[in-house]
Amino acid sequence: MKKLIEFENTKEILDKYGFSMQKKFGQNFLVNEHVLDGIIDAAGICKEDCVLEIGPGIGTMTQALCAHAGKVISVEIDKKLIPILEETLAEFDNVTVVNDDILKVDKARLERILDGKEATGTNISSDTPGNGLTLKVVANLPYYITTPILMYLFESDLPFESITIMVQKEVADRMQEGPGSKEYGALSLAVQYYAKPETMMIVPGSSFVPRPNVDSAVIKLTRYEQPPIAVEDPKKMFKLIRASFNMRRKTLVNGLTHMSELGLSREQVEEALAKMEKSPTVRGETFTLEEFGKLSNLL
Ligand code: SAM
Repeated sequence: MKKLIEFENTKEILDKYGFSMQKKFGQNFLVNEHVLDGIIDAAGICKEDCVLEIGPGIGTMTQALCAHAGKVISVEIDKKLIPILEETLAEFDNVTVVNDDILKVDKARLERILDGKEATGTNISSDTPGNGLTLKVVANLPYYITTPILMYLFESDLPFESITIMVQKEVADRMQEGPGSKEYGALSLAVQYYAKPETMMIVPGSSFVPRPNVDSAVIKLTRYEQPPIAVEDPKKMFKLIRASFNMRRKTLVNGLTHMSELGLSREQVEEALAKMEKSPTVRGETFTLEEFGKLSNLL
């Protein structure tokens, strides 16, 4: 098997298929073995794991994941990559490639594949065990949709234990910010509600083809068994959070009442704030996760 992580092999396969990378899909392929080893180590992949990989590209990371994990499910949006993946993953019988948009893929189908009840895709072993494996998400994410993918994963019922992903360094930093920072926002709160974030590695642009203009980081999000705060309706809390950060410069009351979908009156929000001993002119960006939780429960 030719290891695609070596630049010459990546170039050879891209040339063979006349594949040109598409910016609209965030295609920057990894060509740094040290970084690849670091991701596999950070994710702690072993034979007892089933990995959900988002965006396998030409299969560079997928090859390493297949070698280390019990089972791999890779979801790739670009159908032009499917024949390439058939070749580059030909020697593995523990991988299923699903040609779909991760944000639209049928979750019930993913669960069936995970449970070994459905075998579809590129190279499949129909008797690959699914039950009893620990689900881990690993990806070199397309940067244009990092936040929607994370929200999709967190709000799905997929029973993953951790998410180890390559993202823009700036986005990895944003995930770990608190009130008072300009970077603090809905993504920081979502990550901190669902998982413990840890930056594992800073990755220079020279590790990819084509080379992006920004540095990247590998961040590991280990899901909490119990979220750090008690909230009756987390989805509702995240609607409140999004509404307050959509209108960052406005007061929390204006932000929340502006979003008609929430159906909240000024009086209701002011009353809840009063119960929390907060001023009616407070801004959402000063609220901690715990305070958003309290507000959501009160409303
Ligand atoms: N994993 C490969 C690597 O490390 O070299 C490729 C990573 S590249 C940054 C992102 C990959 O995600 C591309 O293959 C792209 O086509 C795919 N992709 C983009 N949007 C997607 C989506 N919505 N669902 C699934 N895959 C997507």
